[in-house]
Amino acid sequence: KLSNVSYAYPGSDQSILSNLDLEIASGSRVGIIGVTGSGKSTLMDILMGLLIPTSGSMEVDGLKIDESNQAAWRKNVVHVPQTIFLCDATIAENIAFGESKEEIDIEMVKESSKKAHAHNFINSMEHGYDTLVGERGSKLSGGQRQRIGIARAILKKSNVLFLDEATNALDDETESKVMKSLYELDPSMTLIMVAHRKTTLRHCSMIIEIKDGKIYKMGSYKDV
Ligand code: ATP
Ligand code: MG
Repeated sequence: KLSNVSYAYPGSDQSILSNLDLEIASGSRVGIIGVTGSGKSTLMDILMGLLIPTSGSMEVDGLKIDESNQAAWRKNVVHVPQTIFLCDATIAENIAFGESKEEIDIEMVKESSKKAHAHNFINSMEHGYDTLVGERGSKLSGGQRQRIGIARAILKKSNVLFLDEATNALDDETESKVMKSLYELDPSMTLIMVAHRKTTLRHCSMIIEIKDGKIYKMGSYKDV
């Protein structure tokens, strides 16, 4: 729950977000839209506990999030950012990000990849899941990198999943398949996503439109 949240980046007096009031129900599917630079990613960063509001507050289940507990809140959250970070290692290592090679459960990695519609292209590569992705994933296409980012997020099984333009490099058909599997993940998982292509968000329970740092519209997909 955000109450009267405003945010200005350090060293700037310009409020990127001003006086936002917002409640997101656990297990809901929320879409965030708005023109470039309107503050969508900033709002996501606040919801994820990466940024603390300059004024106003964010509560999770009645508990105010501040510097003392933001790290604990972040453990509940997984983020698929606008640009996926990949390291020069194998596909399996990049999906099971943060686990050592010995710890990787390859069956779980494959299961997540299937849900992210990445399994087929990975499997068709000469070395499959052991293929090296190159520096920052240079040997993969933008859409392949995005699906690896999504497979990584699915594998983490968090309480809240944030997707920031996470499928914008995919063609319509692949995107709609990936979105379908995301919607079919654990129904108790809260999904919060930013998309420019509005049809990406057609199954969301709530759409928020940000304009000039304020909530301009909020409601069902049809209404907004
Ligand atoms: P896009 O659709 O292009 O991703 P967005 O809606 O996600 O845009 P934000 O990234 O939230 O927009 O940026 C909102 C505003 O905040 C922009 O004017 C941007 O210049 C500014 N901004 C973003 N990050 C910073 C930062 N680290 N320091 C200062 N200003 C920032
Ligand atoms: Mg953004």
